Amino acid sequence: MSTPFPNEPLMDFAVESNRESMAATLRRLRAQCPGEVRPLIIGGRAVRTPNILDSVDPSNPDFLVGRVCCASAAEADRAVEAAKAAFPAWRRAAVEERAAVLRRVAVGMRRRRFDLAAWIVMECGKPWREADGDVAEAIDFCEFYAREMVRLRERPRQRHYPGEENFLVYEPCGVAAVIAPWNFPLSILTGMTMAALVAGNTVVVKPAEQSPVIAAALFELLAEAGIPGGVANYLPGLGEEAGRRLVERPDVALIAFTGSRAVGLQVIESAARRRPGQRRVKRVIAEMGGKNAIIVDADAELDEAVAGVVASAFGYAGQKCSACSRVIVLESVHEAFLTRLVEATRSLVVGPADDPATFVGPLIDEEARRKVLSYIEKGKSEGTPALLVECAQTKGYFVGPAIFDRVAPDSPLAQEEIFGPVLAVLGADTFDQALEIANRSDYALTGGLYSRGPAHIEQARREFHVGNLYINRKITGATVDRQPFGGFKMSGVGSKAGGPDYLLQFCDPRTITENTMRHGFAPEEKDEAPSSPRQP
Ligand code: NAD
Repeated sequence: MSTPFPNEPLMDFAVESNRESMAATLRRLRAQCPGEVRPLIIGGRAVRTPNILDSVDPSNPDFLVGRVCCASAAEADRAVEAAKAAFPAWRRAAVEERAAVLRRVAVGMRRRRFDLAAWIVMECGKPWREADGDVAEAIDFCEFYAREMVRLRERPRQRHYPGEENFLVYEPCGVAAVIAPWNFPLSILTGMTMAALVAGNTVVVKPAEQSPVIAAALFELLAEAGIPGGVANYLPGLGEEAGRRLVERPDVALIAFTGSRAVGLQVIESAARRRPGQRRVKRVIAEMGGKNAIIVDADAELDEAVAGVVASAFGYAGQKCSACSRVIVLESVHEAFLTRLVEATRSLVVGPADDPATFVGPLIDEEARRKVLSYIEKGKSEGTPALLVECAQTKGYFVGPAIFDRVAPDSPLAQEEIFGPVLAVLGADTFDQALEIANRSDYALTGGLYSRGPAHIEQARREFHVGNLYINRKITGATVDRQPFGGFKMSGVGSKAGGPDYLLQFCDPRTITENTMRHGFAPEEKDEAPSSPRQP
């Protein structure tokens, strides 16, 4: 038995020196913004483009966090060529060598922990604790996938048979395109990139338009960790141009995508089309959205349920794929629960992410703000507004938390992913009905139950169809290895990130069978024959 995976501890901001370090880091980095225009990195070289992406602070969009070169389709082509050229050598590199790069990146992340968290606060408007959690998860992904790849390599040989030896080996697929979202700007980007790399693939990484500066910081760490030129290529650019081109390239072997359902389905469809010169079926790992529900049972501990729902619905302003956006409450506790929920939500501090007191920060951009405000308008006719927090912030993409009661299970508010601090409260007469409503969704990502009844807990385990089910706790904040993360239905295709099967998706498995019965004698050779095929 191997030792349990040690997750990276979170920063304790109750400790004064940690608070001071974070505040000082924010001041220092802000003084350096926007800095020089950051180039693309293709084949280990800096590449400049005429087009530039400006990355602004969602808490104050007048503040320019950084400027980054913006790749066109032509640079996407160059990046794929560079990754292709680097593939044969990286494929041959020993697993230990590749795993060591990941571990060195983790060391670099620990050393620059405050810097990375501060970039996340500034570029994505993520409050301190959540930003630090993002960095901790990125460190976990590096360490976990390094360890997992070594485990896969060491997996015992397959069953032998008299006169026959069988081996199962895992080989890399080729060039991987990594297309990432902004809402976990470091951890998700790192997770997909490291998984592809440690399995022996070379990568072209396209971060989200909203978070290219944090992605540049990851590439600095990769360079420091000694990643060979061309093995990892940094390609910030527009999704519709650089991202689309990566998906269309005939020589991209696999695509690791995390983002919205609309784009994810487009990626899957486009990748399925065979293009001239294409020699393999592209594999797509697509992690998409959610419309996650928490059921509050008649015997639930209401204080805990309120705290869990508030954290799940309004943490990072509801901009998590795992966020709770529906809460289904059994009639006998509906009013009592709602009253407490409204009071708890009213007390949340809405404000700029730089302020350590902030719980609800800004939304990522103006488009997101407009979309969420339009759902709040619609909500006024689809449910009863129980709380609409006015936001005093004049600058920034802020929207105060909103709670709507008595929302119909089939209304858009209860069915569509909103990705903001908007919560629909639904009623249910029985536990069976609550489960049926919870499952009445295109998505199956996360779900939760607050209950003290063993029979209902057991029933939810069996019948609540979500990728990650949480009982008597919040439904966000999955931890690498402890809660491997990912969904099904319209929430995605692929096996859980941070889990034991994840790396298999980045590999081509090969079975090698040798008939070892001697048929006569071969001439003697000087070199000793290897006793087992070499795992790349
Ligand atoms: P998005 O779909 O808008 O963008 C994701 C990435 O796709 C970005 O890098 C974007 O530039 C790129 N892209 C856009 N159009 C493209 C195209 N035509 N071809 C190729 N690439 C293209 O998503 P987002 O707004 O960045 O992220 C939020 C969404 O991500 C939410 O729906 C959320 O639920 C989901 N998400 C899911 C998970 C999960 O693990 N299931 C985790 C985080 C976020």
